[in-house]
Amino acid sequence: MDTACRSRPYPRRCYRGELSRCRHNGAPLCGPDRIESWTDTELSQDDDIVARMFDVAQAALAAGERPVAAVLVRDGAIVAEATDAVFGRSDPTAHAERVVVSDYCTAQSLLHLRGYELYCFIEPCVMCCGAIHWAKLDRVVYALSQARLNELSGGRPKPGIRELLPLGARALSVVGPVRENDAFQIAARYDWRARAL
Ligand SMILES: [Zn+2]
Repeated sequence: MDTACRSRPYPRRCYRGELSRCRHNGAPLCGPDRIESWTDTELSQDDDIVARMFDVAQAALAAGERPVAAVLVRDGAIVAEATDAVFGRSDPTAHAERVVVSDYCTAQSLLHLRGYELYCFIEPCVMCCGAIHWAKLDRVVYALSQARLNELSGGRPKPGIRELLPLGARALSVVGPVRENDAFQIAARYDWRARAL
């Protein structure tokens, strides 16, 4: 039986040297080659950036927005950051991840973000995974998983970033959740059920 995936019939290996599995039919030999998982105990050089992202998320909460933040990094340095601006802009698409990508690219006259990393307070949603795909980011780090967020919001389960981004042909490193319990404590200060969109 031919198990090769015709949608992406080229071989890839993850950073551990293991073959990726195709999301279409489960066959090996296709998919992003660097989908990583990471636990709190493995957190290291990214710690300062994650801590800054938590500060930005808490500032959003103080400003009346949802405690969500995204930080854009190049060569280990923060180049841009954003919070959710859904209420402030009256824009249901103004998630922090999309905002930081759009605003930075517009300000810098860029059409891609190859070589950049995006740190996300919450595991990116369907829309923001689209933004990550089209911006051609190299790496995404997130703190709070969609599953833990659902404990607070009561929302229906949504596809995660590891389900969504392999739809693209480009290799992408995904790291998370990191410091998830800390992120959960911050997120829990917001009433997600009372102010659902
Ligand atoms: Zn989003």
